[in-house]
Amino acid sequence: MQENLARSVGMESPKEKVKPITVDAKLVGKKQLTADVFEMHLESSAPFLFAPGQFISVLIPGAGPGGRDLRRAYSISSSPELMPSKNIFELCVKLVEGGPGTNYLNNIKMGETIKGQVPFGDFVYKTKSDKHAVMIATGTGIAPFRSMLLSEVYQQNKPITTTLLFGARDTNDLLYTEELTPVLSTDFVQTLSRPTVGWPGFKGRVTDWLRENAGTLDWKNTEFYLCGNGAMIDEVKSILTAHEVEKTSIHQEIYFKPKPGESHASQ
Ligand SMILES: Cc1cc2nc3c(=O)[nH]c(=O)nc-3n(C[C@H](O)[C@H](O)[C@H](O)COP(=O)(O)OP(=O)(O)OC[C@H]3O[C@@H](n4cnc5c(N)ncnc54)[C@H](O)[C@@H]3O)c2cc1C
Repeated sequence: MQENLARSVGMESPKEKVKPITVDAKLVGKKQLTADVFEMHLESSAPFLFAPGQFISVLIPGAGPGGRDLRRAYSISSSPELMPSKNIFELCVKLVEGGPGTNYLNNIKMGETIKGQVPFGDFVYKTKSDKHAVMIATGTGIAPFRSMLLSEVYQQNKPITTTLLFGARDTNDLLYTEELTPVLSTDFVQTLSRPTVGWPGFKGRVTDWLRENAGTLDWKNTEFYLCGNGAMIDEVKSILTAHEVEKTSIHQEIYFKPKPGESHASQ
C-alpha cells in the first residue's frame, strides 16, 4: 500500500489519490528570507506522502469571527525527499499585514506545534520530458516550484528546458537565488518591476518578459505552470491563449485574488 502511494505521488497521473492526514508539526527552524517572507522548518508528528507542488491546510485556532478556527493553505516548499529521513518539511510564508494566518505562523516559537491536514492539490509537476517547462511565479508563489525543482521526480524526468520566471518588486524581494540557480540547468529569470539602479537583469513584470521574449519560446511545446497573484495568472493566461497554448498545458495555483482595480504591478 505505502509502496503504491509512494509511487503514485511521483507519477504524472496518480492512480491512487493520497488521502490527507492530520499532523502536528513542530517548528524546528526558521529563516527570514526577506523583510516580510520567512521560511518555516517543521517536523511532522507522522511521515506523510506528497507530490511536489501540493499544499498543507493549516489550522489557525480561534482567529475567525466569534473565535472560530480558520484554515489557510500553504504550498510545501521543500522536496518530498526531505520527509522520509527526518519527517521535515518547509513552508515559505509572506507576512500579510493584519492577516490572521500569517501573523499566527510568524508568532509560533521554536518547539511549538501547528496543526494541519496534508496533502492537498493538483498543482503538481508533470513528467513530460519531450516538452519544455516554463514556471512563472510572483512572491511566495515560488514555493511549489522550489519543491518541484529540488524533487527526485523532476531531477529524473527533466523537461527539454526549464525556465523559472520569477517576478518581484526589487532586489530585496528576490527569493532562493543562490539555492535555485545551480539546480536549474537552464534559465532562472528574475524580473523586477521597481529595479534599483544598476540591476543587470530584466526590468518589468513577468508578463513584460513573456511579451518581449515571445520569439524565444516554443509555445505549443511547453507546459506552463503559474503560481501566485491571481491578477498575474489571468494576464499570463491571456498571453498564453493568444499564442494558442492548449488549456491542458496550463497549470495554475492562485494564492489570492486581487482586490477590485488592483493589478500585479507591484508584484
Ligand atoms: C493553494 C494555496 C497555496 C498557498 N500557498 C502559500 C504559500 O506557500 N505562501 C504564502 O505566503 N501564501 C500562500 N497562500 C496564501 C495563504 O493561504 C493565505 O491566503 C495568506 O497567507 C494570507 O493569509 P492571512 O490569514 O494572513 O491573511 P488574509 O486575511 O487571508 O489575507 C489578506 C490579504 O492578503 C493578500 N495576500 C494573501 N496571500 C498573499 C501572498 N502570498 N502574498 C501577498 N499578498 C497576499 C490578499 O490580498 C488577501 O486578501 C496559498 C493559498 C492557496 C490557495
